[in-house]
Amino acid sequence: MRAGEREPVITIDGPAGAGKTTAARALAERLGYRLVDTGAMYRALAWSVVQAKDLSAEDTPKLRRHLESVEIEVRDGRVHVNGRDVTEEIRTRAIDRMTSDLTTLEPVRAKITPIQRRLAAAGGVILEGRDTGTVVCPDADVKFYLDADLEERARRRQADFRARGVNVELAVARGEIGARDLQDRTRAIAPLRKAEGAKEIDTTNRTVDDVVDEMVRFIEQRCCTRS
Ligand code: C5P
Repeated sequence: MRAGEREPVITIDGPAGAGKTTAARALAERLGYRLVDTGAMYRALAWSVVQAKDLSAEDTPKLRRHLESVEIEVRDGRVHVNGRDVTEEIRTRAIDRMTSDLTTLEPVRAKITPIQRRLAAAGGVILEGRDTGTVVCPDADVKFYLDADLEERARRRQADFRARGVNVELAVARGEIGARDLQDRTRAIAPLRKAEGAKEIDTTNRTVDDVVDEMVRFIEQRCCTRS
């Protein structure tokens, strides 16, 4: 890298259960890059709306006022809402649903997208989510789109919940993930789709190491690992 050049920005998009977070974490570690889990920021916002109790997503003026008063911060892999660490509390099925509903709304995206852009500005960053290569950083140096079979994604989701002591039947996990996919893909603003030029990787039946090896090879071809 030449003096004055910023380090690369890498984006990873894809549906729930595609393995983005796991792969992004491992990739960030290998490259020594910072990771921005954009979904966690939206989840934190959804958490704040649930806490507000008398607030509904449909009441736009009230929602806008709420958004003005909420401070979302990501630091060292932890997510904070108005200074409170909510990293674990945002990983529930109720928050899954609320987040997908809220992220269809323009004021919500208008609040979070600039924060993500600021985090990306310095480079040496991996952003992971649904619209990071299409809307947040369309000029990213390297873009990935991860996907996997619905059945496998539902199994991963079920395993995630089991690890947190919550038992969900496979058919229920499949139904919930399918509903969230549909909403994320068909919303009018920043829908989930593969960014132009993104490298698509199907993670079905593949190990994390195998997927990350492929990502590193692609990044090396494209530009840009530390030297
Ligand atoms: O990735 P995760 O499951 O944490 O994302 C939760 C939800 O946040 C997604 O279902 C999607 O509705 C929303 N999201 C988004 N844009 C992003 C990241 C997540 O709309 N960049």
